[in-house]
Amino acid sequence: MTKISKIKTKHGDIKLPSFMPDATYGAIQSISFNDAKNAGVNEIVTTTLHLEQHLGSEYIEKIGGVHKFFGWNRPILTDSGGFQVFSLIHVGNVKKNKIEDKGCTFKNPTDGRIIKLTPESSQQIQHNLGSDIRTVLDEPTYLDMDQKGLEKAVERTTNWAKRSKNEFMKIYNLTEEQFAQPDKSDRPKLFAVIQGGKNLKLRKRSFEELHNIGFDGYNWGGWTVNKNGTFASEIGEFMAKMIPNNKIKYAMGVGTPDDILISLKQGWNLFDCVLPTRNARHGYLYVNKGVGDKEFKNFSVMHIKSERYKYDTNPIDENCNCETCQTVSRAYLRHLIRIKEPSGFRLATIHNLRFYSDLLEKQYIPLI
Ligand SMILES: [Zn+2]
Repeated sequence: MTKISKIKTKHGDIKLPSFMPDATYGAIQSISFNDAKNAGVNEIVTTTLHLEQHLGSEYIEKIGGVHKFFGWNRPILTDSGGFQVFSLIHVGNVKKNKIEDKGCTFKNPTDGRIIKLTPESSQQIQHNLGSDIRTVLDEPTYLDMDQKGLEKAVERTTNWAKRSKNEFMKIYNLTEEQFAQPDKSDRPKLFAVIQGGKNLKLRKRSFEELHNIGFDGYNWGGWTVNKNGTFASEIGEFMAKMIPNNKIKYAMGVGTPDDILISLKQGWNLFDCVLPTRNARHGYLYVNKGVGDKEFKNFSVMHIKSERYKYDTNPIDENCNCETCQTVSRAYLRHLIRIKEPSGFRLATIHNLRFYSDLLEKQYIPLI
């Protein structure tokens, strides 16, 4: 079986493996999409529910879709909205918040409106947004969820995946045979999410049931980090082996450069995570080994706010060719971040995204 090396989309190819930064609310915080391009970013993730809550997907459809609205003509992946719904449902004790087999209902914390999200409406919203990769609605599982909860979530995830695919096939008027040849049309891709928490038997059941329905890619669902903060790599290894190599293996929310390199070896080929952008705003910069002040296995972290950089006029990382490393000193960026100056957040974010782009670029699967 040929190992998949790229994802063909209407807005260009995604070379694998790839890291996608999160454009929550339709923006990569602190930078422009042009900055992202210059930092080596080729594809982004945006969050369906946030766009639906704040603008409405019908508005985005009217204005010409997410690509036109953002001014980003490269691939965009949308999530199902499920993860945010479940986070909202489990936070606070709002009686109207419910997860049922037919879908979920919750109170929008921003305006008190009741929002319903079903497998079908999630597909419809993503269709209105016009993203290149769509995700089916699933019920996320915590790693330490009890057996009964895990079983129910797996069962619901399968049923919702079936309904999501039916809706997708209806929207694009596709037969199973046409769906099975994704490169012969410019239809968007459809990914399903494997659940099961720490229970490997349930992970297997979840994957097999989803694979029987048939999708373009399979995502690592639920949490990827244990309660003590360690990476749950044994679950990743188990799942990556089950998913065929001609399918996309998307490790959602992974992770640190070390976790990404471990996952790559296991076979995962698509990643997204808030770490490079969020940490940048707190002054934590990813740099090559020996450059920063805290060493990890394959990289080090520079805490730029530290006193030790006060008189340091060197670039952040002399081996990096990003705008930040070409134009400002450690001492100046330290100052900007310490006073919470937006241009400092921008420069730090550009550098961290370049570090992630460079990390993945070294791992490209040769195109055949
Ligand atoms: Zn740099």
